[in-house]
Amino acid sequence: MPIDITDNCNIGYLCTEKQCYIGNGNKIAFRWIDLNGLVKDYTFTELHTESSRFANVLKNLGYKIGDVFFTFLPKSTEQIISFLGSLKLQLVTGTLFSNFGEDALLDRLGNAEAKVIITKKSFLKKIIKIKEKLPRLEHIILVDIDDHLSESVMSYSKLMNAADITFKVEMTRPDTPSILHYTSGSTGKPKGALHAHKSILMQSKTTEDILQLLPDDVFWCTADQGWVTGTSYGIIGPWSLGISQIHYAGGYDAEAWFKMLAEQRVTVWYTAPTALRMLMREDDSFFENWDLSNLRCIFSVGEPLNPEVILWARRVLGKDIYDTWFQTETGSIMISNRPGLEIKPGSMGIPLHGIQAAIVDDDGTLLPSGVQGNLCVRPGWDSMFITYFNNEEIYRSKFKYGWYWTGDTAKIDEDGYFWFMGRSDDVINTAGHLVSPFEVESALLEISEIAESGVIGVPDEILFEKVVAFISINKNVEWTRDLELKVRLHVSNKASSIATPQEIFVIDSIPKNKSGKIMRRVLKAKYMGADLGDISTLDI
Ligand code: ATP
Ligand code: MG
Repeated sequence: MPIDITDNCNIGYLCTEKQCYIGNGNKIAFRWIDLNGLVKDYTFTELHTESSRFANVLKNLGYKIGDVFFTFLPKSTEQIISFLGSLKLQLVTGTLFSNFGEDALLDRLGNAEAKVIITKKSFLKKIIKIKEKLPRLEHIILVDIDDHLSESVMSYSKLMNAADITFKVEMTRPDTPSILHYTSGSTGKPKGALHAHKSILMQSKTTEDILQLLPDDVFWCTADQGWVTGTSYGIIGPWSLGISQIHYAGGYDAEAWFKMLAEQRVTVWYTAPTALRMLMREDDSFFENWDLSNLRCIFSVGEPLNPEVILWARRVLGKDIYDTWFQTETGSIMISNRPGLEIKPGSMGIPLHGIQAAIVDDDGTLLPSGVQGNLCVRPGWDSMFITYFNNEEIYRSKFKYGWYWTGDTAKIDEDGYFWFMGRSDDVINTAGHLVSPFEVESALLEISEIAESGVIGVPDEILFEKVVAFISINKNVEWTRDLELKVRLHVSNKASSIATPQEIFVIDSIPKNKSGKIMRRVLKAKYMGADLGDISTLDI
């Protein structure tokens, strides 16, 4: 049954308070499992009261509709509760991947003009370092201190204890801004895709129609809440339908994951191709240890799902994997496989009912089946981003000839199935995370020994793509193991661990075109041909 937004379109309200009204109050909203195996259940009533308490925390600090709040936490209950609480107060609510370094943080918090952020003590120094460049930032709330450190660095538990558990969610319009997720482009700073509260309609619909979750299901989405999958399907979609979820603090770990699937009797599992490819490395006998009889099916998102993975899962797990395609900008699944639709291994499936997707050439002309071109979607769905925060111009550039241009290339077969081909820009997709080559190049250039840099993504068996950097170093500098470590550490601290180059090549100069643009395609061709010797002669 579609969710009913007539009384209020607020995401925080619909995922918690409304669930209590319709009889789900005592139902488990989520089971939290930490790294030591500690298990704690939260009912919808508890999720409601705790998120209301946090809404009051923010309200008591003086925040109001439209102010910008961010979570900067590893997977945690506080992240989930504060996210929903902030939405209840109608703040613009962003989440930041916990591995972000200081430059990555500054770009995002600065662009968003963030006013309040929730984080943990060990991350505080990263924020303190950039704080003076964030004039709008007023409060930092720490989840792991008992007492306030100052008027601006405050204790979560102390604030929560002082806050009331009842909070009246004001009537929220469908178009009121809600969630802000930053995504990487090939040039310039990351862009903040802003969504509206009505996006819940699509997250709910796709949870019903694609994931096909049922009231008694136990759903587990492995994505981190720092990314769109972690909020759209780790929070909103399932809870808009009152479905119980598992939230596990850890990252990939074959043993821990399969223990979780079996012991928690997970029925539907949403994960990523990189994780599935890593599982394929386990011996077949490993999978005989676990009772997966409750698991109905597996969904995948974020990168191409190669046919071998589907065939492996059928053989070893006896389950189907359904590939789904979407982006930060689209907010919810747009194209996908699903139970009831024949899977063509290697294809991302067909568009969701009501979504018009097409392949067009660079002039906007529709291309016939079998021909590769730009993957475009007809604008107007409810979870479509409403702008790039403080970047209206780039937002507008994504719409041409009546289509939203996704930046992906694909083709459609004669049965209407979509086949992902690649990206039309230089954005790197490593382990399902988009990395901007520009961001990595900028971080590299901050190192005094480095003169020039060019960064590309190259195919990788597990990660889909890996980050490879080409650098030229200053005269009289020697390329040593120590310097290489310094370079890696710097990129990790400034950008993030996922952006850290897996391979670094020192060359004489970086190929550039006449206007000085790095010719990443040349670097890529050279990498693939593995003939790196004469790259400096390619300057044109
Ligand atoms: P998350 O940010 O949570 O990882 P996401 O991967 O869906 O979610 P983005 O980071 O915005 O969102 O990445 C979107 C891009 O990822 C797409 O434009 C496409 O290049 C790639 N992608 C996503 N799903 C698929 C898929 N099923 N097959 C191939 N590529 C995909
Ligand atoms: Mg991704």
